[in-house]
Amino acid sequence: MRARREFSTRIRAMRAVDAGSALSGRCVTTRARRDARRATRSRAGKDDRSDGSSVFERVEFERAVKPLVGETKTLNEGIAKFYDESSGLWERVWGSSERGGSGEHMHHGYYRRGEPIDHAAAQVEMIEESLRFARVSDCKRVLDVGCGIGGSSRYMVKKFGCEAEGVTLSPVQAARANALATEQGVEKMAKYRVADALNMPFEDGSFDFVWSMESGEHMPDKKKFVDELTRVCEPGGTILIVTWCHRVLKDGKKELEPAEKVLLDRICDAYYLPAWCSIEDYKQLAKEAGLVDVQVADWSEEVKPFWKGVIQTALTPSGIIGLIQSGAATLRGALVMPLMQTGLATGTIKFNAIVARKPSR
Ligand code: SAH
Repeated sequence: MRARREFSTRIRAMRAVDAGSALSGRCVTTRARRDARRATRSRAGKDDRSDGSSVFERVEFERAVKPLVGETKTLNEGIAKFYDESSGLWERVWGSSERGGSGEHMHHGYYRRGEPIDHAAAQVEMIEESLRFARVSDCKRVLDVGCGIGGSSRYMVKKFGCEAEGVTLSPVQAARANALATEQGVEKMAKYRVADALNMPFEDGSFDFVWSMESGEHMPDKKKFVDELTRVCEPGGTILIVTWCHRVLKDGKKELEPAEKVLLDRICDAYYLPAWCSIEDYKQLAKEAGLVDVQVADWSEEVKPFWKGVIQTALTPSGIIGLIQSGAATLRGALVMPLMQTGLATGTIKFNAIVARKPSR
């Protein structure tokens, strides 16, 4: 109980010292939450409520599961446990034959407007679009930071014939990523291990392409994160971060609206996330790290169909059984999925990408 309290306090403190953005501590009074829900509902509009997301805004179902979620002392322990527990289910259910995917990509899909929705293809398209955006058409050594079960880096190994290393906090993910590399015949080229992205076991300048797909949102110190990616990148190399951000604050505003903070707090608790920042904060950090050719993109529209697909999958019989079997943290994660939809619909949550180059010597 004490450990749990300490962890919550630490998370709250981390939120308050968000890298560059003024996303302050939580706001948990009943009134604030009620106002928050009202405001988010009116911003989301009717269409976004047809999938039931408003019920999830009104009733904090995830609170019912909270007492069952095991205690973890630190953020990193929580992240590791969450992915240890949930990765197998994701791979099994999301990669099932009717979906036509492999389940090895644990990131959003990139859906081209006007094209039929195909979730598996959209996840591959997310990798392709990221490579196009980064203007990377070849590389020698890629580092997959926050690699999940290594889907992106094995894709690049096969596409470019490059070498890859991947780091994750989850021992289960690292083992599965290595097993998949063997299964796919690329074990000599792609290697995965448990390591902290904020303190990586690699020499300076080891990689010509540093790739982080949807792991930045977990990093409690965004400056250290950008600096560490920069350190391991070789001069002339490319760094790509695709990540969840909060919207860019309007001129003169120092923080998000209370309603938005409540929404993000609930998501933070369930997904083991510290404070969020905006893509402008990342841009600033990239410049401070000495990076050049900094470009940013907003793909929030292009990812919107994703969560509806994930929720539909979770609501199948095998999805529901799997959620119950996987454990309370996974179930809690599933219960806040509609809040991700709301955040994207209202514009509080942005799906951003940033690419930059380390200057040649
Ligand atoms: N990039 C993968 C997985 C995204 S899920 C994919 O697209 O499929 C987020 C990943 O970030 C998980 O693997 C988690 O372990 C990892 N992660 C979060 N914080 C981390 C940290 N501090 N160091 C290393 N990995 C981290």
